[in-house]
Amino acid sequence: MHVTKEKQQIKEPISQDRHHSWHSIAAEEALELLDVSAQEGLTEEEAQQRQQRYGLNVMTPKKQQSAFVRFLLQFHQPLIYILLAATVVTFTLEEYIDSAVIFAVVFINAIIGYVQETKALAAIDALARSMTAKAQVIRNGNRQNIKAQELVPGDIVLVQSGDKFPADVRLLQVRDLKVDESALTGESVAVEKKTQPVAKDDVLGDRFSMGFASTVVTYGQARGLVVGTGDHTEVGKIQKAISGAQDLETPLTKKIKEFSQLLLWVILGLAAAVFAVEISRGADWADTFMVAVALAVGAIPEGLPVAVTIMLALGVSKMAKRRAIIRKLVAVETLGSTDVICSDKTGTLTENQMTVQQIVAAGKVYAVHGLGYRPEGHILEQDQKADLSTNKALEQLLIAGLLCNDSAVKEEADKWTIEGDPTEGALVVAAQKAGFERKKLEQECPRKDAIPFESEQQYMATLHDGARHVIYLKGAVEAVLDRCRGMLLANGQEGPLDTDAINKQVEEMASEGLRVLAFAMAEAPDGLSGISHEDTRSGLLFLGLQGMIDPPRQEAVEAVRLCQLAGIEVKMITGDHALTASAIASKIGLRGETRNGKLVAITGKELQQIEDKDLEDVAAHISVFARVSPDQKLRLVKALQARGHVVAMTGDGVNDGPALKQANIGIAMGITGTDVAKDASDMVLTDDNFSSIEGAVEEGRSVFDNLTKFIVWTLPTNLGEGLVILAAVVLGTQLPVQPVQLLWINMTTAVLLGLTLAFEPKEPGIMDRPPRPPHEPIMTRDLIMRTLLVGTLLLIACFSLYLYERRILGTNIAEARTVATTVFVVLESFYLISCRSLVRPMREIGFFTNKWVYYGIAAMFFCQALFIYLPLMNTLFSSAPLDIMQVLRILGAGVILLLIVTIEKTIRFRINRRKEKEKAVTES
Ligand code: ATP
Repeated sequence: MHVTKEKQQIKEPISQDRHHSWHSIAAEEALELLDVSAQEGLTEEEAQQRQQRYGLNVMTPKKQQSAFVRFLLQFHQPLIYILLAATVVTFTLEEYIDSAVIFAVVFINAIIGYVQETKALAAIDALARSMTAKAQVIRNGNRQNIKAQELVPGDIVLVQSGDKFPADVRLLQVRDLKVDESALTGESVAVEKKTQPVAKDDVLGDRFSMGFASTVVTYGQARGLVVGTGDHTEVGKIQKAISGAQDLETPLTKKIKEFSQLLLWVILGLAAAVFAVEISRGADWADTFMVAVALAVGAIPEGLPVAVTIMLALGVSKMAKRRAIIRKLVAVETLGSTDVICSDKTGTLTENQMTVQQIVAAGKVYAVHGLGYRPEGHILEQDQKADLSTNKALEQLLIAGLLCNDSAVKEEADKWTIEGDPTEGALVVAAQKAGFERKKLEQECPRKDAIPFESEQQYMATLHDGARHVIYLKGAVEAVLDRCRGMLLANGQEGPLDTDAINKQVEEMASEGLRVLAFAMAEAPDGLSGISHEDTRSGLLFLGLQGMIDPPRQEAVEAVRLCQLAGIEVKMITGDHALTASAIASKIGLRGETRNGKLVAITGKELQQIEDKDLEDVAAHISVFARVSPDQKLRLVKALQARGHVVAMTGDGVNDGPALKQANIGIAMGITGTDVAKDASDMVLTDDNFSSIEGAVEEGRSVFDNLTKFIVWTLPTNLGEGLVILAAVVLGTQLPVQPVQLLWINMTTAVLLGLTLAFEPKEPGIMDRPPRPPHEPIMTRDLIMRTLLVGTLLLIACFSLYLYERRILGTNIAEARTVATTVFVVLESFYLISCRSLVRPMREIGFFTNKWVYYGIAAMFFCQALFIYLPLMNTLFSSAPLDIMQVLRILGAGVILLLIVTIEKTIRFRINRRKEKEKAVTES
């Protein structure tokens, strides 16, 4: 009676948290309350209806800063304070136009800053969102993957190690389930879960019969009933929704911010000193104030921090196009200095398209014909079709491969594909080639229970009854042999186990690059209805081996070559056999220590024996690490970092988290990666392909190049402007450029000219040079010299043309100042062309490879024409129309500047090339 009443309540459109104590009722009761069967799940229609009733399984995002607050924050900068003060002072001095112009500039600046920041945030946010969480459910009696947000109360979900619970679930069935609930309870030790109800008033951490949204399965598997979704989950209630907001700060932006801050104080100090000197000279204090403001406005690179963030964010979208999704902005800049990439083998360096090629059973070797997943081909014994009835071990080996298996092959549009794990798919295909029918076998020997494959255990086992009560087991050779007491002979009898012969056979197969799986079986004891690791610990019969090829990805071969050219070492860290790993590594072209012409592979067992201090050396010289466990991955990363390397490390498993976090760049696999690995990573590969890492490195280098170009382009302007003001003070002349005019220069050029450098394509040979040392300053000695040179040239050009106008031609002050302002705009435009490459001459990078630069210059010239000739602008900025001779003189100065910088660049380029050549000669 009670149940029916509750049931009616649930069926009503009620809020989900009406029924608080799912943990304290039996699983069956929960199923009944939500009106669903654990085997069949909901029907699609019912799920649709419930979705309308309960809404999507999403948490309302935490309230973020409102747009208005973010806009106001744009004014929260020291420079803006100065400008606001200038607005007030000019206003009180009744310089209304100046006051209005300065305020307008501040306002427009805030709008631009706001729009750009919003765009950058949106771009990163969209990428983060594009990785939607998936959930495995049972609906209409079938397993299927759906978007986690489509889950409704009553859905039956399946989770396994590495998954996050997609909603709050009442557990129905568990196998060794351990869950990390730290996201919810703060408790970092994983909790073992059960299905029995617990007391009603138990606290969250003790509700062992529940799986809570956002907590992570660290071990085992479970089937659960969704009881709470979205805001009605425990995590939703405590409002811990992971906010989509990204941190836009990176070490580089921080450094630049610090640098700008320092510069600000220096310049303010200088401005104050100028102010004091001028006042003591008896100058008009209002004029002097404007001089000080001009110095501050001109010399502070106000656009720099924003521009750097924008350029990094642009890098993020470029990388997304190359199938690398950046989760943390810092990765964009770290990629440029990465010098070691530690990569998984299967699926990243190889295709993960397995085909069984060789089988060994009862000492006989068989070849398997046919490539890919099409189940057509034969098992051959010395070129003849093998007769299975003559070898019982072969027969059982193939059956074991088929039944101890969670994957399937299917044909779609004449193409055979795998559903599940390719290693297992290959075993299904091999058995089908021998003529076995899976459905029939499964009916004869239905599965009672299974121990799923986990990388740590390196095996999987299944328990069957029906025609035969057996356990089948498959896994890595070492893991299987350890459990065997004998082997099955061709006549079906038990024989002694010749471990040495088997290992020799394995070595032969592995040295050809085959991935070898071993198989075993055991009669199951009567009455056994479930299996544990204990039941498979010993006493099994060895059945044989299946060796499969997994060809290297052709793109990976090329990508590895490019990385090596770029001074980046690639290391393979795999769970596979040492010889298989070494053979594949050679095919892919990895470099590293060799013995007898073969790449040396170190195994996890050997790593255990190596002390931390010796590990540094091993990690540096060896390039293949096999049978490595996740904690050893962590040791390897640390050892490489101790040598000063910047390490990128891939990972997909639930235990890879610590290594991914420790690495300078943790890279998770988008397809095969677990939620845990993705959460711990800085970057996710949407195609799991090694070549995408190489692509991201290329983009990272290019972003860094462009950032440097921007900085080298912008700093001389500020230097030049500062010097012009100081020179005017020292020489006691009027200011050649007024504060509002400096604002005009800085604001328009940064957006129209500077940012076009973000679209500069990769320089030729970007992957021919070594990685950027992580602690190398952006401004190298060469670049500082260039900044000084250009800053001085700007000073000379501006001041000499200004004085020429005033003293020689007797031009009025408005016109002369317009000349001085235009000098900055024009010279910066010419200098921009040179900044397209910091070292290479223009002909090497191509004149028109970045058309945005020229569009930017055209737009800048148009705006400058308005500044010079539009009466309104003349009023606002105290500018005046210029004649053709004045314009030509300025353009001439631009050409001279470009010439001088080009000569400087060419000389430096030649010197550096010569040095490099000499270095190469001495090294060789
Ligand atoms: P990588 O770390 O390069 O991706 P991997 O896929 O070879 O390598 P694991 O998945 O940890 O690494 O597999 C380790 C070993 O476990 C394999 O070499 C194989 O012998 C065995 N193995 C892999 N998949 C299965 C499976 N589904 N069932 C049983 N054994 C398996």
